[in-house]
Amino acid sequence: MKPAPFAYRRPGTLDDAVAALAGEPDAKVLAGGQSLVPLLSMRLAAPSMLVDINGVPGLDSVEVDDDGVRVGALARHAAVLASDDVRRVQPLVPLALAHVAHATIRNRGTTVGSLVHADAAAEMPVVLRLLGGSLDVVGPAGRRTIPADELYVGPLESSVRRDEIAVSAFFPALRDGAGVAFEEIARRNGDYALVGAAALVDGDSVTVGYLSVADVPTVVDLTGVPDDDLGDAALAQLDPADDIHASAAYRAQLVRVLTARVVRSARVSRQARQPEGS
Ligand SMILES: Cc1cc2nc3c(=O)[nH]c(=O)nc-3n(C[C@H](O)[C@H](O)[C@H](O)COP(=O)(O)OP(=O)(O)OC[C@H]3O[C@@H](n4cnc5c(N)ncnc54)[C@H](O)[C@@H]3O)c2cc1C
Repeated sequence: MKPAPFAYRRPGTLDDAVAALAGEPDAKVLAGGQSLVPLLSMRLAAPSMLVDINGVPGLDSVEVDDDGVRVGALARHAAVLASDDVRRVQPLVPLALAHVAHATIRNRGTTVGSLVHADAAAEMPVVLRLLGGSLDVVGPAGRRTIPADELYVGPLESSVRRDEIAVSAFFPALRDGAGVAFEEIARRNGDYALVGAAALVDGDSVTVGYLSVADVPTVVDLTGVPDDDLGDAALAQLDPADDIHASAAYRAQLVRVLTARVVRSARVSRQARQPEGS
């Protein structure tokens, strides 16, 4: 199939992009196109206009300091994954990005686009939620920061308004002595996960985020749960569903197995980060 007809704008400034979006109620932002273009081709989306932000300068940066990682709207998954500074400051970002699609898609798709697209089967939304990150957006009313726990409101639905452009995402740094890990099971390397889990172990606190288990990326608190009970404690807070890819029972079993595995790996990574002699 071919997309339904649409107008195309490629503004050269962020202000012009915001104005183009505001002036056309059915317009959509085009970033890497790796999710939107297939949706257009299958006619699951039919926007009247695409506002291509690839001509806006300054949106492709990946900035890293001691506080964390700020990823610009046009930074491709591949660029974020390749950054040694990102790996040092927040290793969960590359651990998860390595599971996002295939190299060709990571070369074009953007990490911010994935966060806005809000697919509960995607890796990066759950990472942003688990780490307590945020998304910066700009619209006709100005700029605002959306905390990750206010970002995901339903299936493929974020709280980014129709007339807003996400300009960057912030992933907080991993604190000294904390550990992270990421695990997923997919049919083939590069496929969306049947279930995925990201863990953050920080002091006594143990939190795990799940993809492909609920309609939205979901984080559960497993602090104080004995190791043998981690999977069942997670399942008590989740309600895996059937779909064409996996049964609810199979997903529940993956939650049990992956939860124990990912928490164990996060603890190991924490030990590996301890300064010598401590
Ligand atoms: C075969 C295949 C396999 C894939 N597998 C995975 C996978 O395993 N895991 C995974 O996470 N992803 C996967 N993806 C999706 C990929 O990661 C996309 O890159 C990502 O979901 C969207 O990023 P994009 O830049 O391509 O966004 P686009 O496709 O350009 O846009 C997606 C949506 O977000 C909106 N949007 C994008 N950027 C902005 C912005 N800055 N401001 C406001 N709105 C914006 C668009 O309007 C659109 O609604 C796969 C894609 C394909 C084609």
